[in-house]
This record gives sequence, structure tokens and C-alpha cells, in this order.
Amino acid sequence: MLKNYRLFNNTHRKIKENYKIARENQNVKFYKEIINQYENRTKIKIDIWDAIDKLSNFIDVSDPDINLPNSMHLFQSAEAARKDNQPDWMQLVCLIHDLGKIMYLFGTDETGTSIKKQWAIVGDTFILGCRIPDTIIYPEHNKLNLDHNKYNNLGIYYKGCGLDSCMVSWGHDEFMYQTLCNNQNSLPNIALYIIRYHSLYLWHDKNEYSYFENKYDKEAKKFVKSFNKYDLYSKNDETLNVKELKEYYNDLIDKYFESRILFW
Ligand code: FE
Ligand code: FE
Repeated sequence: MLKNYRLFNNTHRKIKENYKIARENQNVKFYKEIINQYENRTKIKIDIWDAIDKLSNFIDVSDPDINLPNSMHLFQSAEAARKDNQPDWMQLVCLIHDLGKIMYLFGTDETGTSIKKQWAIVGDTFILGCRIPDTIIYPEHNKLNLDHNKYNNLGIYYKGCGLDSCMVSWGHDEFMYQTLCNNQNSLPNIALYIIRYHSLYLWHDKNEYSYFENKYDKEAKKFVKSFNKYDLYSKNDETLNVKELKEYYNDLIDKYFESRILFW
């Protein structure tokens, strides 16, 4: 039987609560504060493999599809891309796309970046400083958002400004994107782009925000959609032989990263 994904109706109260607090707190003001905190990251060094291991302790409260630790999700999605003969950089993107969730290691409850409070780590993202489309998950919470009440569709932006000119709600996407920008690697730009916008379902799945797209965004969308297949449909409760896989993916990490140890 075909399995349905992302059905939120009957899922845990905690998921809805997480989305509600995110809607209340994610706005331009919060974004500017949190982005400040994560500037100039030169102190915390973690090996990519250790980062993957750290995700074993993290269960994403926003995800209705999986009760496995996030580390397994990364292997499953990378393996799905590999079986599909995707280029090696796409396989690597799948392996690392959620590593931004290790933000919980240095986050706080107040900023929603801890194991207990995850509203600024996980969940679908949305653009700040403008109206939130009502195709978002739990649109009834939009009225709690300051920016949504204050601005129209374009809000503080202009037509065709490009997604990279927009502030997107803070979470593991943006955190990992910035981590990759701060560390030497030879991944193609589109790889970083996929990681940056993979939770922006409103855009890549619901076709919202077209008024912000520039030429690059219009082209890049198909890659984000293609990645999304491996993020979603590879979720299952099978466990993999991690030892064997580590050898294969270690070569990919060495190919694209100057060092396996990154600044976070
Ligand atoms: Fe993710
Ligand atoms: Fe994921």
C-alpha cells in the first residue's frame, strides 16, 4: 500500500505546539538577534562524522513520519539518492542536509534551539517580513505572527528580489547553509542552495512566493524538488549497516571538503 507522508492531522499535540510557538516568535526582530549569535563561528570544531553521531540523540518533534534518530534519516536519504544514480554531490547533500540540527548542542530553550524547545531548529520554514501564505501548515496560527499582521505579500522586499534577499525563519536549513559558507568546500552552489531552502515547503511544494523568485530561483527549484524525494520518501523504519556505508561516504566527504572537521 502506498504510504502517505506529511499527514499532520492526527499527529502528536507536540508537533502543533512546536509550529505555534514558531509562528509566534519567528519574525524579523528575532532573526536579527539570532543571526548575530551565530556570526564569526571560529570556536566550535566538530568532525562531520561526530556531528552525524550527535544527531542520534535528536528526535525531531516536528516530523510526523519518522521516529528514528535523525542520523539514520541521513543515511537513508543518501542511499536513496545513490540508488537513483544521482551525482555524488547530491548524495553528499542528502547525507549532510539536516546536520544543522546539531544546533541543539549549543542552543537554548529561550531561543527555541534546544532538545526541549525546537521551534527555531525544525519545522517547515517561511519568509519573514511579509504576509505568510495560508497554504502553510496550521494557517490558523498565522494571526500570532507580528510580521504577518504588519505586512502585505511583498512586505519589506521587492518583486523578483531573489530568495537570497529574503529572511527565512531560522532553523537547521539556514544554520547549515551558513556553516558550509564558513568552511572550505568544493560543493556546487546548488548544493548549498538545496540545503538552505529544503524546509521552505511553501515555495518548493506549494508554489508560493513566486513574486520573490529571480532567474536563479526559478531554475534551482527543480533541484530542490528532486532532493525532496530523497528527504521524504526514503523515510522508513529499516536500519542500515552504518559501518559499510561510512567507508563509501567518507570518500565523498574527502572529495568535497578540505577537512572533515568543521567550524560550527
Ligand atoms: Fe531538514
Ligand atoms: Fe531531512
